[in-house]
Amino acid sequence: MGIETQKTFCRFCHANCAMIVDVEVTGDGTRKVVEVRGDPDDPAYGGYTCLKGRELPDSHNAEHRLKHSLVRNEAGEFVETPMDDALAHVADELRRIINEHGPHSVAVFMGSGGFQNSAAMAASLSFAQGIGSRNFYTSVTLDQPAKVYTTMRYGRWMGGPNTFSESDVAMFIGNNPVVSHYAPVGGVPPFSPSRRIRDRQAQGMKLIVADPRESDVARLADLYLPVKPGEDPALLAGMLNVIITEEIYDRNFVAAHVDGFDELARAVATMTPEVAAERAGLEPDQIIAAARMFAGGTKGCAVTGTGPEMAGNGTLTEYLVTCLNTVCARFKQEGEKAAIPGVFTPQQGPRRAQVAPPVPMFGAEGMPKSRFRGLGHLGWEMPCNVLADEILTPGEGQVRAFISVGGNPVVGFPDQQKMVRALDDLDLFVQIDPWMSASAKRADVVLAPSQCLEREDITNLSEWWHEEPYARYVEAVATPPGDVIDEWEMFWTLAKHLGTPMNLAGGPLPMDRKPTKEEFLDLSVAGCLVPPSQVRRDCAANAGAAVVYSDKHPLVDPADKGEFHRFDLACGDMPAAILRYADNPPLKAGYDFKLISRRSKTRFNSIGHPLKKLQEKTTTNPAYIHPDDIAALGLVEGGIVEISSPHATIHGVVKASDKVRRGLVSMAHAYGDADASKEDVRTRGSSTNRLTSDTVDIDPITGQALQSAIPVKLVAA
Ligand code: SF4
Repeated sequence: MGIETQKTFCRFCHANCAMIVDVEVTGDGTRKVVEVRGDPDDPAYGGYTCLKGRELPDSHNAEHRLKHSLVRNEAGEFVETPMDDALAHVADELRRIINEHGPHSVAVFMGSGGFQNSAAMAASLSFAQGIGSRNFYTSVTLDQPAKVYTTMRYGRWMGGPNTFSESDVAMFIGNNPVVSHYAPVGGVPPFSPSRRIRDRQAQGMKLIVADPRESDVARLADLYLPVKPGEDPALLAGMLNVIITEEIYDRNFVAAHVDGFDELARAVATMTPEVAAERAGLEPDQIIAAARMFAGGTKGCAVTGTGPEMAGNGTLTEYLVTCLNTVCARFKQEGEKAAIPGVFTPQQGPRRAQVAPPVPMFGAEGMPKSRFRGLGHLGWEMPCNVLADEILTPGEGQVRAFISVGGNPVVGFPDQQKMVRALDDLDLFVQIDPWMSASAKRADVVLAPSQCLEREDITNLSEWWHEEPYARYVEAVATPPGDVIDEWEMFWTLAKHLGTPMNLAGGPLPMDRKPTKEEFLDLSVAGCLVPPSQVRRDCAANAGAAVVYSDKHPLVDPADKGEFHRFDLACGDMPAAILRYADNPPLKAGYDFKLISRRSKTRFNSIGHPLKKLQEKTTTNPAYIHPDDIAALGLVEGGIVEISSPHATIHGVVKASDKVRRGLVSMAHAYGDADASKEDVRTRGSSTNRLTSDTVDIDPITGQALQSAIPVKLVAA
């Protein structure tokens, strides 16, 4: 009996901040989380946490947390059901559906919650592949598919990009890591991001921030560009115009490693600073200054958040960012330490000072195709954009069963009303969720998972931000309540019932006996720098703290001349897309405002809504509007505004902010519910995705729906 203190890490979001946890141990051996705090001795995090992570005790101990699974009875009511029985029921239903409709009739979706479990991604993907379904989805294609596509399509440098800690210039486009704790590789690591930025600035780094809203990170910028929403391509093409015209790019690197430069130069020639500034809502001098500041550095990357991809022209935007980094040669060179060592990341191949061989991406021959919009697999997953149609449309491969792993499709997918119709149309909807979320309420079966401090995990999700070979394997520190299990165990049990295999990177999982999580993790990341089982032993020997495998940090080797590839900046539809963009300014008559998406300090996508202390901070996602627009529209602070797109109408609580450009309304996404309305907008918030469509204004390559920079009109409600 008493309090035990152990080291662990947070899994509320992907940042995996190092924590110390106090656990109350009772007479019967039950272990209950009572407090968490940052671990000041951790070499990467230095004690950093955020207010969401500090609510882990509430998340684990909340009265209304699901401690048992729920299965609907014939009357449509949820009945508490033992986990074994619930899984047997799901397996029976899946078998019936597969027999009747084939393997593609089962879809699996990994949402934000599922990603926080180090085994759930491999488990859900191998389950879907084991039953032979092409319908595997993740939240990556909801908000940033073009990053994956662009990296593979135009060339990937095997040594990796410059890292933030060596940068003398950095550019963040629609990325607010101070709140989102997210940046692509090359951007600021999400642990203590403000301090890291200020430290680098104190050492001379220049920071450029482009964002329609003067975000938290914009206030730290040396050059802030309040670009119009959805017009990042104009800013980026304008900067490339200046960089190429003034010949301040890296000519040696381009000559040695880049094809398609002339085509790029011709396309951006149309985007003079004057033309680009007019389109982007900036001054020509601002574009010239940004170009000179970025190209004037020697190391440092331009990176985007999720907003620019969600704001239309996502692939074009990411392509132009790739061009900017490529012509300025923002890559690790021979003899330097590779950018991201990635202790748990398997099959990274050699780290060389050269471009990697191209990888087949969307549309490549032989890759699985959707029945809709000409879209197909990105890597191993189908774009979320097509899921509702795959469910609703009869025919070969129609989805009839859907398993959502910690996702919340009701508030997270584009075209909310259509997605809700699709979920309600399913023969079987299984939601893995510790709460009765907006999606869980509509499910046929809700499987109750253990929470992070009740399970073992490794830091595989966060390691693309670690510039050193940092790794952790943590033990379960709290007792799971009721009848909850780890997500990977659910998939293993379902596969066993169905008699289907689960193949991981290191080979098949044993199905005649349940493997341990350590065995699962070892197989799932086989081929990595240090196997999880070894990291587990090393962490145990280090009193549970992280281990940094400095001696295993790969160096960038010389190029292999026998297998030489080059960036190709002119392949596919680019750079002609720049010219089409330049010729087609967006027009939506009658919709004079744009709704832009923002991150919430108190929620991680749709995660955190049920937690008491986070609710005390806010229960709604306010509609931030410039004070002059509030006055001009006759709105009042704290009143309700009706927000209509060409597709639907939602409501928001008006909040004045002079950090938002005029003509905009800025709201956090993933709030509300399918039936959220004016009456309850203060207590539940609003689903901005209701305003969007999965068929109009979508990215033609990735299917990304327009989920920011949405044309809207505002009236007092
Ligand atoms: S940033 Fe993410 S991982 Fe870190 S404490 Fe906050 S929620 Fe947890």
